[in-house]
Amino acid sequence: MAKIVQLSAHVANLIAAGEVVERPASVMKELLENAVDAGATTVTAEIRNGGMTFLRVTDNGCGMAPEDAKTAFLRHATSKLRTAEDLAAISTMGFRGEALAAIASVSRIDVMTKPTGALSGTSLCLEAGVITEESEAGCPEGTTIIIRDLFYNTPARMKFMKSDVVEGSRIAAAVQNQALAHPEVAFRFIRDGKEVLSTPGTGKLRDAVYCVYGKDSGKMIEVNSQWEGYTVSGFVSKPTDARPSRTLQTFFVNGRPVKSRLMMAALEEAYRNRIMTGKFPACVLQLQLPAHTVDVNVHPAKTEVKFLKEKAVFDCIHYGVLAALNQTVDRPDVQFKPQAPAPVIAPVAPPKPAAPQPAAKPNPQPNFFRTMTSQEYKAFTGVVKDAPQPSITAAVATAAAVERTSALPVREEIRLPQIIPPVTAPPEPELPEEPQQQELPMPEQAPWRYVGELYRSYVIVEQGEEAFIIDKHAAHERILFDRLKENQEAITGQTLLTPIPCQLSPAACGALLSHQAMMQELGFELDTLGENTLVLRQIPMDLSEADAADTVEEIAADLLSGRREDVSTVRDEVLHTVACKAAIKAGWRTDEKELLALIEQVMAREDLKYCPHGRPICITLSKKQLEKQFKRS
Ligand code: ADP
Ligand code: MG
Repeated sequence: MAKIVQLSAHVANLIAAGEVVERPASVMKELLENAVDAGATTVTAEIRNGGMTFLRVTDNGCGMAPEDAKTAFLRHATSKLRTAEDLAAISTMGFRGEALAAIASVSRIDVMTKPTGALSGTSLCLEAGVITEESEAGCPEGTTIIIRDLFYNTPARMKFMKSDVVEGSRIAAAVQNQALAHPEVAFRFIRDGKEVLSTPGTGKLRDAVYCVYGKDSGKMIEVNSQWEGYTVSGFVSKPTDARPSRTLQTFFVNGRPVKSRLMMAALEEAYRNRIMTGKFPACVLQLQLPAHTVDVNVHPAKTEVKFLKEKAVFDCIHYGVLAALNQTVDRPDVQFKPQAPAPVIAPVAPPKPAAPQPAAKPNPQPNFFRTMTSQEYKAFTGVVKDAPQPSITAAVATAAAVERTSALPVREEIRLPQIIPPVTAPPEPELPEEPQQQELPMPEQAPWRYVGELYRSYVIVEQGEEAFIIDKHAAHERILFDRLKENQEAITGQTLLTPIPCQLSPAACGALLSHQAMMQELGFELDTLGENTLVLRQIPMDLSEADAADTVEEIAADLLSGRREDVSTVRDEVLHTVACKAAIKAGWRTDEKELLALIEQVMAREDLKYCPHGRPICITLSKKQLEKQFKRS
């Protein structure tokens, strides 16, 4: 590597001012980039305490001569950039010449470095950017930099640091990014004495992805295509393996990890109509393009980029991924749909009392009853049990027949009173006094009539001269949310016989682990199982096992987004997620009884009926409106 000189003031001014060192992970990123720039083939990163007290990077790169080692810590000292013209064609990853200076100013640093072929190396100690010790040292070729006590002299900055777990996980993510960006370099990452990542440095991206994303990545589809001189390569997940968040999307531009909405949008466009809304593809995508067509200077940490030809970038990724997806035979949709449940026909004889049946295995629909309080539940089943059984059987059988033939107009038969008898029946003797129970709706006196369901999504109810069209998922979600929210104590959890593993980004794992107490309050119990995986030992009662892993990943994404720092808002978000997952789904077959119970609640609450927050829950269609449509008035 060339000798280091200080940039001229002119060039220095071309470089936008800004902070490079935001947190330990940004320090790690800079040190790793320098190691790669120095031509290292093996790089070992080690941290203790989330990188706050100890962060070390060792490489076998070109090393630095004694004078260069000292110059390296001066502001705008770089061996990679000399003139303003160089800015337009950056082939290396670091070039600002301010990373080491910035890091040095807020920490204590030890450096040992020896240039390739030199007889001896240099050892330096710095404190707040000032060299305090300097000596000749015997050391291997390459460079070792140790950052101790980061932000020790800037308490204000220190305040913004999260727990060691969170910072450590962000560092892990930074190491992973570099490992994915440089499959030709063997990376090792040691966290609190434990090796948590090791890539082979074979130069094959597939190998690096395997080490970082885990064995599931074996199913990812290879992308490799060119478009107007731009190249996109890497791996994307199959549509059927979509994730509930974007945490496993990694993008690089010319070898540099970047965050880019444009690239994200192009990727997701390729999956349009192939994955459910709310699901996201995972990817590791490298975009190669001429250096002059991209500006990496828009952000001091160089994680954001501006493209000269946005459309070309979009098309390159979009069509590249599309081509890869079209080559695979995977047909996605089917897997997301629940299997058709057995027809709902009540046993003919002898009539059995309704008992809390767990949802049938192949049908992942959550059972509405599970979401009631135990008292409500008992009251409800008690009522059904005491009902004149034949009429229930007849009604449900008729409903099932309608379901099968879609022929006869049997609205009369599926009227509510026949299915759910009045709740005026005396409460079961063993039940404790429960005021809520008296508040249960009284269907016989209900001023409304259930008409039917449209598209397995919208329930139609008639009342007087008005029809109500209820979005069953939205309504159920809202009711569950309100109920969960009302209940200020911890949410009841169900302990799982077989713990559920969930593969997440290290940052997501960190976020969840540092919110253990909150997760517990929400009914989750989790444990670590390696850097990338958590196991769920307990999940909220209302959540189905099939949804648990996704829910946890969504919660992690919420926590990581940083928008929700306040515990009560996090709790709200989580409750929303749980409610959404536990609610009956649009497009899925829902048991008639569940629908009726749902209608009861919607119709009894003016706020649900008329003033929705956010997405509407219920809309109305008056007789007048219809008459107008049919030109009757
Ligand atoms: P930049 O990477 O933008 O040049 P830095 O402040 O990160 O600026 O590094 C300053 C200089 O120190 C680099 O240009 C490089 O010459 C030298 N340097 C830093 N880290 C290493 C390393 N691990 N091995 C060899 N040289 C290094
Ligand atoms: Mg650098």
